[in-house]
Amino acid sequence: MEQSEDAHIDWSYSNARLYDACPRALYHRQLASSGDGWTTRPVRVAGQSPGSIIGQAVHHGLAAEIEEWRRGNEPSLHGAQAAATEGLSAAFNNKRHELPGEEVDSITSTVKAHLQRFFRLLWPRFSSHRYISHEETTSFTVEDTTVWVKADLCTRAEDGKFVITDWKTRAPDVFENQTLQLRVYALWAWNEFEPEVDQIRSQLVFTSSGEVVSRSVSQSELETLVQRIKADSRVWNREFSRSNFPAQPGAEKCGQCLFLADCVPGQQATSN
Ligand code: SF4
Repeated sequence: MEQSEDAHIDWSYSNARLYDACPRALYHRQLASSGDGWTTRPVRVAGQSPGSIIGQAVHHGLAAEIEEWRRGNEPSLHGAQAAATEGLSAAFNNKRHELPGEEVDSITSTVKAHLQRFFRLLWPRFSSHRYISHEETTSFTVEDTTVWVKADLCTRAEDGKFVITDWKTRAPDVFENQTLQLRVYALWAWNEFEPEVDQIRSQLVFTSSGEVVSRSVSQSELETLVQRIKADSRVWNREFSRSNFPAQPGAEKCGQCLFLADCVPGQQATSN
């Protein structure tokens, strides 16, 4: 595969965690993005597994009610469930030949439970915050590298903290690095919104359990992240060739990898 002159892999948490887990996986993701001319944005190649259907439906339901909140209305479980049901219908229509009835019932009741848990345990943490933004995909630059982020919700807390929140519908997967993800959000907020680092809080909110993983960051941690982004960008944007993105197979991660069908080392790892 030849690299076009403007080919470039931008930095995102998603790309970084993929590269950390297996450089070849980032190579395959970049190949998958080449159909529209080497898009410079991170690409979603995720399939519609039951987990991704649940995640999308819960996000859809929460986004709809956060939008109500932005308009000055009270978010409600009822509204979130209506929006999630709409999202589920679309997903089930796509999957109608593949999902058995009991799986549809299980996904529907799981989504309902996530939303109930959110409004019972988690929303009270936000209701006194001031709304800033939600579901916004945006970028900032680190030197000449474009860094993409998408925060599910940004708010200002009563104590003045700038709070960036990411909804998680499932337990961390093998590619997850919570600390890195939280620091990327903090770096974005530091660049764009809040010059006082100790006034920034980034957090992951798990709708599967009601758990909240929250972090403050130091300026030195953010400066370390800046150095990492610069270094990653240099490595990722050498000549785009398979050999510059070595495979690091492992039976468990290859079994979960979206690119297994195109990856011989991964197929060997999973067949042993
Ligand atoms: S299948 Fe395994 S070796 Fe291949 S890209 Fe995925 S994680 Fe890497």
